[in-house]
Amino acid sequence: MIDISSLDPASTVVVATGNAHKVVEIEAILGKAMPGKRFVALGELGSWPDAVEDAPDFEGNALIKARAALDATGLALAVADDSGLVVDALDGEPGVLSARWAGEHGNDDANNDKLERLMADVPEGQRGAHFHSTVALVRREPVACPAPYDPATAGHSFDACELVFIGNGDCPGHIGYERVGTHGFGYDPLFLPDDTPGRTMAELELEEKNQISHRFRALTALAAQLA
Ligand code: IMP
Repeated sequence: MIDISSLDPASTVVVATGNAHKVVEIEAILGKAMPGKRFVALGELGSWPDAVEDAPDFEGNALIKARAALDATGLALAVADDSGLVVDALDGEPGVLSARWAGEHGNDDANNDKLERLMADVPEGQRGAHFHSTVALVRREPVACPAPYDPATAGHSFDACELVFIGNGDCPGHIGYERVGTHGFGYDPLFLPDDTPGRTMAELELEEKNQISHRFRALTALAAQLA
């Protein structure tokens, strides 16, 4: 556990995820655009209640997570991502509900059962889908807010309290009829990226996935804004 008071707020970026792989991936890409910054996982700074991700879109939920990390730690810089699977034949479902689509949060097996079942009769050619990721970087200024922060009006621009950067990325592909592969997590065994024809995301080594993933693309888009 790291003592928050030992950290320099100007050079620390809190990464609002419980997933250690994501911290490595985020630091590898954003670290180059933010030299001198130390990336620390929120979980290394204490145990915190999960943020309530009740926004209707990925960007809203990424911002909720980043702001919750700043509220909890009092630090000035946070990055968070929100991601999910968007299936054309299901009108965009599971979307922001991806993690808890079948009921229980993070039950990948139940989520994949549901996807297989709902897609069983959808013909080839209509099975298009993409993974989406939005990464939000929030820098809180060391000044008092003149009024409650209003995301509806603040958008991506600077206001008295916060500077917000958003990166978006997609990984296009289609949904298979049955699960194949053992790597990765979530919907990987049912998702065939356009970039790796004939192979599901769960058949890719982590390094290969990281070169085409929605998160990689979102992080790259965000890093480009910081350069
Ligand atoms: P989160 O944004 O990391 O909470 O991800 C939300 C949910 O989207 C996960 O629980 C997965 O079900 C799904 N998901 C996001 N990214 C991926 C991925 O790279 N592979 C498979 N499933 C993913």
